[in-house]
Amino acid sequence: MAHGRDTLPDGPTEKCGVVGLSLADRAAARPLYYSLYALQHRGQESAGIVTHDGFQQHSHVDMGLVGDAFSESDLAGLNGTTGIGHVRYPTAGSVDKSCAQPFTVSFKSGSLGLSHNGNLVNAGEIRDTLAAKGHAFTSDGDTEVIAHDLARNLLEGDLVRAVKRTMERIHGSYALTIMHDDTVLGVRDPEGNRPLCIGELDDGYVLASESAAIDTLGGTLVRDVRPGELVLLERDGSGFDSYQLVSHERTAHCFFEHVYFARPDSRIDGTLVYQARRELGRRLWDESGVDSDVVMPVPDSGRAFASGYAEAAQDDGADVEFAEGLMKNRYVGRTFIMPTQDERERAVRLKLNPIRSTIEGRSVTIIDDSIVRGTTSRQLVSLLRDAGADEVHVRIGAPPIVAPCYMGIDMATREELIAGDQSVDDICEEIGADSLSYLSIDAVAAALSSSRIDLCLGCVTGQYPYDIDGEETDRAVERPAVTDSAPADD
Ligand code: 5GP
Ligand code: MG
Repeated sequence: MAHGRDTLPDGPTEKCGVVGLSLADRAAARPLYYSLYALQHRGQESAGIVTHDGFQQHSHVDMGLVGDAFSESDLAGLNGTTGIGHVRYPTAGSVDKSCAQPFTVSFKSGSLGLSHNGNLVNAGEIRDTLAAKGHAFTSDGDTEVIAHDLARNLLEGDLVRAVKRTMERIHGSYALTIMHDDTVLGVRDPEGNRPLCIGELDDGYVLASESAAIDTLGGTLVRDVRPGELVLLERDGSGFDSYQLVSHERTAHCFFEHVYFARPDSRIDGTLVYQARRELGRRLWDESGVDSDVVMPVPDSGRAFASGYAEAAQDDGADVEFAEGLMKNRYVGRTFIMPTQDERERAVRLKLNPIRSTIEGRSVTIIDDSIVRGTTSRQLVSLLRDAGADEVHVRIGAPPIVAPCYMGIDMATREELIAGDQSVDDICEEIGADSLSYLSIDAVAAALSSSRIDLCLGCVTGQYPYDIDGEETDRAVERPAVTDSAPADD
């Protein structure tokens, strides 16, 4: 089928956290603020909250961490018992307030606020059609495209029908919290690529990317938002309505949420992330366990994997110690997004320091969740050798990442991925390890109690569950034809 110009995701990819809240008669701003704290790991570049007091919208969006983005007076000005929030993930190079969210727009029949986690693959086509109809865009992001399309549909129909029309036009991953005037909605894409769940509080309901945010507010997880579902929170916080607007045969849950991105204490699509990581670790031992004196996690992302791996090893009677041998300086920021390779390498040593007594004269196995560019593993192997390790084995709780993510995890380009064009043996040599093994794709599916076809495995297979220009698909998918934004009569 004919495709527009957007082979790559338009603008910055959005790997983010979203939240929405409707309370009986308490201001929503502060609980929204706390829930954004709980989602801080999903985005550190900017944070924002939009509330509605029944008459008008209030918005505060700023760069930086949640704790820095809001002052007491900012929170005090966010009136109203309903609202949405957003934390945005940093993408190298783009530090621009125009991309910060929630995105807001006012139009003839009201106001809209939008928080988006995910990435559309046909935003360019929709933007072109809307621009031709006179819509002016202020950012190059795909969230604004959703907002304008929804605003246009809202002029012609009711809220639920408008959301349905927009969902029928957009293609890609999206977990959205939306405010239409003082009504809060949650929408999850038909493949359920990004997580979104519903929680119940004493005096209201909450929508959040991860259940850890519900816990933080003292609420209970009701359930995940279903793929293709619209959840509409009652304005008085008394309940929610559900509309199954789009149904696709298969899901495409992102396995990387479980491997790396989500908090271990969150429950996503029925699985506690911590349990999933331990199970991945156990399977890693089963598939490629290696004799060594000590098993150590690469903190923090490798911890649950390493404990599962060590436990499975000990269950098998292996004489292996499970210990911490690398200490993380928690004040060092994200090494991953540092602009140059040289800086990234320096940053790993700044961030992780070995505990010599665990390492010296011993054979060690280090466990990490994933290898992207290979910077971390390469640095760690040499760090451990400098600290006197006899042997250094590396075990990874995910399959080799061979292709980029177009669905909102800002991974790296194909050229930067160490497994993009190299075998595991080559990579082992390049990072200088005595041995290296990854987990198989089948083990990932089994650990997540899923079948392969219900997961998005694009970054480990190079085949995607979406129609992306220049890439292969792993199923029959069709990008919606974007011809005109005028809704047909139905
Ligand atoms: P590498 O050093 O190989 O480029 O990246 C691997 C390390 O980065 C692993 O320790 C993993 O926990 C972490 N990582 C994996 N994916 C991401 C990501 O999308 N963002 C960030 N910040 N770190 C990641
Ligand atoms: Mg890590």
